[in-house]
Amino acid sequence: MTATATPARTLAQLEQVPVTRLRGLPERKAKALGELGIESIFDLLTTYPFRYIDRSRRAELADLAVGDEAVVLATVHDVRSRRTRQGRALVELVADDGTAGMKVVFFNQPWRARQLPSGTEALFFGKLDDFRGRRQMTNPVVDVVVGADDTEDQELRRRRTLRIVPVYRASGKVGLSSWEIGAWVEEAIRRAGAFEDPLPSTWRRELALVGRTEAFHDVHLPTALAETTPARRRLAFDELFRLQLALVLRRRALERDARAIRHAVSPREVTETPRDGGTLVQRFLAGLPYRLTNAQRKAMAAVLAEMAGPLPMHRLLQGDVGSGKTVVATAALLAAVQGGHQGALMVPTEVLAEQHFFAVRALIDGLAVPDPARLGGERPLSVALLTNRTGASERARLRQGLESGDVDVVVGTHALLTDDVQFHSLGLVVIDEQHRFGVEQRAQLRDKGRASVVARAEGPDASADPDLLVMTATPIPRTAAMVLFGDLDMVVLDELPPGRYPVETVWAATHHAEEDAWARVRAEVAEGHRAFVVCPLVEGSERVQARSATEELDRLAAGPLSGLALGLLHGQMPAVEKEDAMARFRAGTTTVLVATTVVEVGVDVPEATVMVVEDAGRFGIAQLHQLRGRVGRSDLPSWCYLLGPAGTPEAAARLAAMVQTTDGFELGEVDLELRGEGTILGARQKGRSDLKLASLRRDADLLDAARRVAESVTEDDPALDAHEGLAEELRLFLAPEEEAFLFKS
Ligand code: ADP
Ligand code: MG
Repeated sequence: MTATATPARTLAQLEQVPVTRLRGLPERKAKALGELGIESIFDLLTTYPFRYIDRSRRAELADLAVGDEAVVLATVHDVRSRRTRQGRALVELVADDGTAGMKVVFFNQPWRARQLPSGTEALFFGKLDDFRGRRQMTNPVVDVVVGADDTEDQELRRRRTLRIVPVYRASGKVGLSSWEIGAWVEEAIRRAGAFEDPLPSTWRRELALVGRTEAFHDVHLPTALAETTPARRRLAFDELFRLQLALVLRRRALERDARAIRHAVSPREVTETPRDGGTLVQRFLAGLPYRLTNAQRKAMAAVLAEMAGPLPMHRLLQGDVGSGKTVVATAALLAAVQGGHQGALMVPTEVLAEQHFFAVRALIDGLAVPDPARLGGERPLSVALLTNRTGASERARLRQGLESGDVDVVVGTHALLTDDVQFHSLGLVVIDEQHRFGVEQRAQLRDKGRASVVARAEGPDASADPDLLVMTATPIPRTAAMVLFGDLDMVVLDELPPGRYPVETVWAATHHAEEDAWARVRAEVAEGHRAFVVCPLVEGSERVQARSATEELDRLAAGPLSGLALGLLHGQMPAVEKEDAMARFRAGTTTVLVATTVVEVGVDVPEATVMVVEDAGRFGIAQLHQLRGRVGRSDLPSWCYLLGPAGTPEAAARLAAMVQTTDGFELGEVDLELRGEGTILGARQKGRSDLKLASLRRDADLLDAARRVAESVTEDDPALDAHEGLAEELRLFLAPEEEAFLFKS
């Protein structure tokens, strides 16, 4: 090989080379690869083995015991294809290595009969089971060593038996075996030669990462298993690094394009005692019926400092259920108002919008803002509610108030995003329970703010961006948050208000145990407290769900909760009825609220001390945690009963975790463990940015490192002008619109 002659390859170059350029790749196979999304050499090289077979550890069948996992080199005979009684394709054969024989069974892989005719010599990798007294492997990984009618190249293939064999996801459907993929990858690696390494070498050394050439070689063609670990680590780092680089660049691009409103507020307002009444924020804080927690104080100061600063705020406030995010948001909204701007609080449901509206209004009751046009020079602060159910005339009035600036703070659902809503000067957008909203809605509201100030194109704030505060109680592990919200700065409320008891959680799997739950409801109601009963999830429309909630109410009223004042709440009720149901429950006119998951997020009734979740095994961890968060919101002890058998082992694991801890972040980790990161990242992962090797669970340290490098590299070079290799590679992974946004100068 002439190592000096070939210049190093970039991934972008390899992306330009179609797989058809490989020798020994027939048209038909190229098509099959295409169906797996593998079109270029780049695609092929980033198709990684999912395991390796260490052939040097080959075992003899006679030495194996049932339960052992092993590689066996054996010759095939007695191949039979048939269907099971359920209609599944079944291929059975006998494999014999001269020391003993075993049965091999493949389900749903009819093509195995063609792949493994009698006389084939193949490696079988799997676990030896006992089936009706016979030794058997079911769906083993297979690697054909010598085909039944192979005449040439036998020596070459036998030599392969000496090394570590990468196993790729074979696809019976398109007719590709792991062996074939491996052969093409091997050729591609050989012909590609050296890879250009875009990672600055100082970082490579500091993080002790192997070079890219070595990484690609060793992940696909290791000569020892130990080599695969550093190779995988390097390639996983690259995946996380590209992702973090894109997120950091996005944030820097926003900063570059943005015209921030420098809000008339200072973080000192959170800590200092005001003179003569103080600012709006100070008067608000002075009037609170409780002391802020340290975490609230810190978060508030961070938010206000950023609002006052020269860059628009993009901040995520993470705080477990009940940690008191609303008051932080309210202070921020008032900070916007005190400088003459408006604030909007957007929430995902009408029930929550109403509740926040009442809560915010109660919190700011009696506060006034300067108004030179009035006698006395001020007017009461005005808060409005806007949802899809807001009547036409009320809506018209409200629109006008928002446009003129007479409305200071608006609380609403995504009805706030409709075109006819214009703001006089939107200074801050708060989005609560963000997991219920998409990224698009976040952007939409920001653009709306920009448009509102553009419209008044004079003055110091012309074409400014409103600040953005996103709040979430979804227990997402830090690693996932870094990937999902890496373009937002984060602040965490890691402390609950004092005097809270952790909610005592009971998994009541049997009918007998269930009786304790109803007894507890009765006892607590007798003490003057309140309870929620969340109805089972039923398949079907909202209407079906509503009907079943109604039936459940009747059942409870006639049975376990007879004599108690039960209320009903579901999504199909008209707004006034919902309001009414919530108001009666708050007031204690009804003491048990039988509800669907509409109570899941945000509902705040401090007197509620019992939460009963029926058929709890059907709910996800995040949802159960949110539901449980509806109780334990005061200094009273509270209970959560999770009813019903689990149904599946996963559900059992979820319920057990709920019983074990009330810490949202711990639960988030369990959730990540149980569901896998694919589902959690589902929303953001598109096409090439997929994490193929990196795992948020195993690679948390790499993720941190990737973030550090991304921050550092872009610090002095925000458009990657001096890092052409990185920029080029990033383009490979970005959608065109994203690319235009990040790299426009
Ligand atoms: P979440 O973070 O879940 O949105 P909320 O903002 O709804 O929490 O607050 C939960 C409850 O705790 C509310 O009833 C609120 O009035 C109360 N609360 C908030 N902060 C404090 C505090 N510092 N001390 C006591 N109670 C507080
Ligand atoms: Mg809340």
